[in-house]
Amino acid sequence: MAIVESVQNGSNGPRRMKLSSPSTETPIGEITVTTAEEVRAAVRRARAAQSGWEATGFDGRRRYMEKALKVLLRRQEEFIDVIVRETGRSRMETIMMEIFPGCDSLAYYPKKAKKILADQKVPLHLLKNKKMVLSYRPLGVIGIITPWNGPFILSLNPTVQALMAGNTVVLKPSEVTPFSGKLVAELFRDAGLPEDIVIVVEGDGETGAALVDAGVDKISFTGSVRTGRKIGEACGRSLTPCTLELGGKDPMIVCADADVVRAAGGAVFGAMMNCGQFCSSTERVYVVEAVADEFIGRVVEKVKKLKLGTAGDFDLGPIIWPNQLEIIERHVQDAIAKGAKLLTGGKRALEMGKLFYEPTVLVDVTHDMALMREERFGPIVPIVRVRDENEALRLANDCVYGLAANVWTKDNDKAIRLAKRIEAGAVCVNDSAITYGVTEAPFGGRKSSGVGQVNGDAGLKSYCFAQPIVLDRFGIKEEQMWYPYTGEKVKILQKIMKWVWGTPLGRMMT
Ligand code: NAD
Repeated sequence: MAIVESVQNGSNGPRRMKLSSPSTETPIGEITVTTAEEVRAAVRRARAAQSGWEATGFDGRRRYMEKALKVLLRRQEEFIDVIVRETGRSRMETIMMEIFPGCDSLAYYPKKAKKILADQKVPLHLLKNKKMVLSYRPLGVIGIITPWNGPFILSLNPTVQALMAGNTVVLKPSEVTPFSGKLVAELFRDAGLPEDIVIVVEGDGETGAALVDAGVDKISFTGSVRTGRKIGEACGRSLTPCTLELGGKDPMIVCADADVVRAAGGAVFGAMMNCGQFCSSTERVYVVEAVADEFIGRVVEKVKKLKLGTAGDFDLGPIIWPNQLEIIERHVQDAIAKGAKLLTGGKRALEMGKLFYEPTVLVDVTHDMALMREERFGPIVPIVRVRDENEALRLANDCVYGLAANVWTKDNDKAIRLAKRIEAGAVCVNDSAITYGVTEAPFGGRKSSGVGQVNGDAGLKSYCFAQPIVLDRFGIKEEQMWYPYTGEKVKILQKIMKWVWGTPLGRMMT
């Protein structure tokens, strides 16, 4: 079944996309696809609005964000309804993953941006006749392209950062969850944001590609590695800066001294939250032999208690995008054929609906199984027993992805040592998948998991161009280096070099 279907009436009619609920398979609405010309027009409008928005200043922009925060708190039930209808998730998870961090983003960046992006006077180590002001200038129009698995927060959070830095935004949410993405425009409209500061364009990859080619000043992309590569190539051709937040295959390392009860709970939550449909879900568990039996027993016990559902109190909803179900089934079948042992789950939960999959635990898995190599969005915990932490580290790093990781031990010093040896953009200790929610933490992947970072000071600055403004201090009539070049000037320059880098006092003073 398709939950999103492209339709067109006649050869000249606008293309539309029809959406159905992944939980109930009933129609939930349709969108009209924005054409490439309309996307270019949106970017032109956003560009025309940018200087006015920048002139609003940090305090002015902050006031709009404060209004938006009030709107989100006031209209949260309505927003939750939209997201739940489109994703089939529980209300609890929708608040936890979308609304709560959305409020934090709307509060944090407006409060901090003025300080983080303030002009900085930078003392110069060498050229004492100069001084420098570093100014964080907005880039202009930011094109934001987002996926379906965190459809509101992954659209809102980069938008808030880009706006607070003084940019305007053209946002292209996923065609799988367009209504949740549109809530971002709705939120800012209700907060009284002027026209064309945030414009949403709608459609699939064609619309996304049109946005990349529409002359924006930066692309902020969150999505798959496959699409990220295409966007990176297109941005390379037009020399457009881009941030690529891509897929992951996060490892979990459980040390012999871990709190096994907490680690088992963390493994289940880390792998099952949002039915495993998030970039930093735990997809590979490496547990040291000494605690493996107890850990595996507890994980299975917890997984068996998870409740699938469509309404009321439940833990796991459906797989939002049907193509993911095929990946899940292929991974589980391939693993079992290669010797993995299924401890629970392992098939669709058809009694719930066509897109539900039973929460699953597999052991005896190895790295020659697709399950341990390719990214998968599904409710699966694959567990590997390892001799020691070194073997766990070797396996954790044996992966093309490097988004995030988690380590479980009672010894924080050891945790930090291990974290530094993991090839991942972020590491949590005794918790999982929390880094994106730590607003101060720059978030981004290593290896194939991406380029650049969002969030924190680094994320906010990534929506700016750091412009050094170098000022002359003394206003003397002529600089030594200016024309004419003479042998005398060569000697002076050599004397300066000898003193600066050839004497202890010179080295100390520069
Ligand atoms: P996707 O790459 O298929 O689509 C993402 C967005 O890109 C959609 O809006 C889509 O319409 C658009 N798109 C598709 N083709 C395009 C093209 N050629 N040019 C421009 N835009 C195009 O990803 P998805 O399936 O929606 O999302 C799941 C992926 O996102 C997973 O790999 C997941 O790990 C990743 N993700 C990463 C992060 C992170 O922060 N690193 C967060 C969430 C999701």
